[in-house]
Amino acid sequence: MVEYFIEWAPNPDPLYHDPSQSPQEMTIDPPLLDTPISVNGYMISLEHLVGGRAKKSFRRAAEENGINAVLDYPGPIIIDSGGFQGTGDPPEKVLELQSSFSPDIVIQKDTVGDAAQTISDAERTYELAGQYDFEVWYVVQGSSVEEYLDCATQLKEIGCEKFCLGNLVGRSFLRKTDEVSEIVEAVAEVVDGGNLHLLGVSNPGILQRISEKIDSFDSSSAIRNATMLREVYEWKNSGIEYHEKCDSRPQEFYCSCPVCDKFDVFTNEFELEKYTGARRRVRQLRAIHNAWVIDQLAKSVS
Ligand SMILES: [Zn+2]
Repeated sequence: MVEYFIEWAPNPDPLYHDPSQSPQEMTIDPPLLDTPISVNGYMISLEHLVGGRAKKSFRRAAEENGINAVLDYPGPIIIDSGGFQGTGDPPEKVLELQSSFSPDIVIQKDTVGDAAQTISDAERTYELAGQYDFEVWYVVQGSSVEEYLDCATQLKEIGCEKFCLGNLVGRSFLRKTDEVSEIVEAVAEVVDGGNLHLLGVSNPGILQRISEKIDSFDSSSAIRNATMLREVYEWKNSGIEYHEKCDSRPQEFYCSCPVCDKFDVFTNEFELEKYTGARRRVRQLRAIHNAWVIDQLAKSVS
């Protein structure tokens, strides 16, 4: 079974497993529809939490009570090292910041495309990981297949057991399915049964091809596309169809998600009044619909 972690930005938005409720008990006006979807887990950016994009009151509550309690979500929550990649910050600082939110899983501080620096940070992280009670996932970095392979081998030698594959977002965006598949397959062989998470890639064509090699993936693209491109995904047995910037529901469109039961995800929010929350409500409901479609994909390839 491939798990799908929803990237969630604590601005705060309502949650996908309980969209009508704000994690911070802040009033949502107008209120949202109750359209919960099943969620395997959330991935939250460390930079979001500490860099000022999350509300201060949210950060404080998460530090005091733990991120699971604030989100009222008992499943796994990953805090990534977003924003700290490639900075001079030592891994101990990143671990300490991550630990202040009591997550279930953290992603080591890594450097995109730089295997040598990532390995050196992994060594330090591994030394310190025993002090914490969360899991640490180590990042396999590289730019060529050889570099990825070498990085994975060295991480295994350090003792790492749970892995993420980084730096594949660009290739995924360009739909370089063959290259991504080659890297995933090569690394999967090295980690040999160790947990493998695909970072930032949710391209359906790629997922269908390599789903047997990975344990989980994440992506904000379903949500970003819903909110920024007005793109609606449609789940068909064979895969996903994309509807971009449609102003009305295509006649043959069909969806059995909890949102579509109550709401037309093709509503054009720009025809609604500004500053009333009405536009935000449309985007959120469309994002929940798209996330549900990706979850169907994850279930189908499992
Ligand atoms: Zn739907």
